[in-house]
Amino acid sequence: MVSETGAKVIAIANQKGGVGKTTTAINLATAMAAVGKHVLIIDLDPQGNASTGFGIDRENRQVTSYDVVLGAAPADEAIVETNIPSVELIASTIDLSGVDLELADMPQRNFRLQRALANGHLRGSYDYILIDCPPSLSLLTVNALVASDQVLVPLQCEFFALEGLSLLLQTIEQVRSSLNPTLEINGIVLTMYDGRNNLSAQVAEDVRNFLGDKVYNTVIPRNVRVSEAPSHGVPALIYDHRCAGSQAYIDFARELLGRDSALAAE
Ligand code: ADP
Ligand code: MG
Repeated sequence: MVSETGAKVIAIANQKGGVGKTTTAINLATAMAAVGKHVLIIDLDPQGNASTGFGIDRENRQVTSYDVVLGAAPADEAIVETNIPSVELIASTIDLSGVDLELADMPQRNFRLQRALANGHLRGSYDYILIDCPPSLSLLTVNALVASDQVLVPLQCEFFALEGLSLLLQTIEQVRSSLNPTLEINGIVLTMYDGRNNLSAQVAEDVRNFLGDKVYNTVIPRNVRVSEAPSHGVPALIYDHRCAGSQAYIDFARELLGRDSALAAE
């Protein structure tokens, strides 16, 4: 069941590496698919962790997000199936690491991904398009923010988390004022939360005081099963759907979809 207005495009962004962007993209998509949504993930990180996390091998990375961003191939030619029904993916390879330099001199360099997604029936074919951003505020991330309706920020509850967040919020504001006026913040999801650690609790409280109800109630705990899943090429939700991390991602997806349908009904 695909919405009539077409997919909502959500960039999953934080310039810090290792905060749970890719894990969130993979498991949110899987949980959405489990309740009947059709989801496309665009792997926009040269490290290709989202592609690997779904077990996409080399042969299935012939046409990638690199070609899509540079306009060398239409987006629908880059789409591959994953091991989860109703989740499809545009893979990335290490080629993408040079793309910032290649884009620098190109016309409309901030709008490449937006244009690629506007072509054809792509948005009409999905309920959600999730963009897994690289760990930087590079041209690639700007392209993702320009192509998106919303940005979802995974935040690890650690020292300096708020400083990094302010920088990201400034960037989002800049993109909104000059390149994509309708960009919204979908929300902040706290990841790798360690309830035994006082710092985690303190940072979580600070973030909630700072951003109020933009912060999801669901918190993703640190969970070893979640970290084991990628080496098996499947989402944590498939690797061990009962573990606390998977259950949290199910709750998170439910909360996100619930907020979305509440907004749609307004
Ligand atoms: P990013 O995409 O922001 O760089 P990842 O999603 O790749 O972050 O996560 C970084 C590392 O932490 C990965 O090895 C991942 O498996 C692990 N990880 C992510 N979320 C959790 C979690 N809730 N519990 C334990 N390990 C996690
Ligand atoms: Mg990642």
